[in-house]
Amino acid sequence: MNNPDFNSKLPYVKSSIFSVMSGLAHQHNAINLSQGFPNFKSDPKLLELVNKAMINGFNQYAPMAGAIELREAIANKFQLLYNNSYCPETEITVTAGATQAIYTIISAFIKPNDEVIIFRPAYDCYEPTIALNGGKTISVQLEAPNYTVNWTTVASKITPNTKMIIINTPHNPSGTVWSKEDMLMLQKLIDGTNIIVLSDEVYEHIIFDKMHHQSACLFPILKAHSFVVASFGKTFHNTGWKLGYCCAPEKLMKEFQKVHQFNVFCVNHPMQKAIAEYINEPQHYRMLPDFYQEKRDLFLSLIQHSRFKITPSKGTYFQVLDFSAITDENDVVFAKRLTKEHKLASIPMSVFNENNTDYKVLRFCFAKTDDTLKRAADIINLI
Ligand code: PMP
Ligand code: GLN
Repeated sequence: MNNPDFNSKLPYVKSSIFSVMSGLAHQHNAINLSQGFPNFKSDPKLLELVNKAMINGFNQYAPMAGAIELREAIANKFQLLYNNSYCPETEITVTAGATQAIYTIISAFIKPNDEVIIFRPAYDCYEPTIALNGGKTISVQLEAPNYTVNWTTVASKITPNTKMIIINTPHNPSGTVWSKEDMLMLQKLIDGTNIIVLSDEVYEHIIFDKMHHQSACLFPILKAHSFVVASFGKTFHNTGWKLGYCCAPEKLMKEFQKVHQFNVFCVNHPMQKAIAEYINEPQHYRMLPDFYQEKRDLFLSLIQHSRFKITPSKGTYFQVLDFSAITDENDVVFAKRLTKEHKLASIPMSVFNENNTDYKVLRFCFAKTDDTLKRAADIINLI
């Protein structure tokens, strides 16, 4: 028999670092602070609402753009938080997590040879999706520990082929947050162009030290060019539900829905009904910054005397720790050794960088019970 060559569209893509490190944590019975997910339960009230929706018969297809109650609740949330909103009928679509929103946005607009600017370290799903659509990823590398943006460098990367810029604040994996000035610089760069901005805002509610999230919707010219992407998994401790949404002006959203209707058509119905009711009580998301800041502060106080160098996370539920005072090992090698020998799993940050540059930093997820954080800190303090 001959050996068929199926000609991979993504020949260099391997298993994601999240699967690799969570798998290794499981195999070695290690505390898993690698893949970003909470290990505490979501609010029983929300679970009851899902049950109620199922019992009340919302078990068939939802409308293509999402249950209208949920789109209305999302629009109200924007109004309340940003004094600015989207039309539930024409500018909001409920998606199978942020990942599907991102995949669909890129697929709806990126053609062969279009350029898409991303900021590295970058969340892992952007680049392969750009490649699948024949686009070209143009990277702007941000440097540890502050990951600040040099806007002159960004301007120098814009060409007539630039079709999209992907931004992410609060930022995974660095735990940094963009300022209003950053957003204004971005707005200035795209003003007068046809560039689309994909603003990945899945951590909008996880921001610390009384800072305000700078949503793309707050800047009128930027809003006119942008998709804002969000995830209920991040927000309500249900990453396994894979429920998210995106918002954009009607002209962009129309193109999005042309793809969405063939990509998934619609997403799970009972959870949409439940979340619609749940987010109509704003306290359910207003409490999140304090809730996660307590976790960050507990984690950092527990490891303050360790040999890791700490730059406190400003948002997301990730803390980056610099291990350059501990070892010269490559971060992937070190992260795997920590998992196997010390029973603590983290994410090596080099995998998100241009050319896998290793800045000797690991990412730890602190969306964990206090007990887990204490046990993890005991290990960190002995390294
Ligand atoms: N963007 C970023 C920055 C993320 O960290 C994640 C992972 N939660 C996603 C998108 C995907 O979110 P979801 O799980 O809702 O698909
Ligand atoms: N967003 C999660 C993280 O950054 C992982 C999601 C996934 O496993 N793809 O850890």
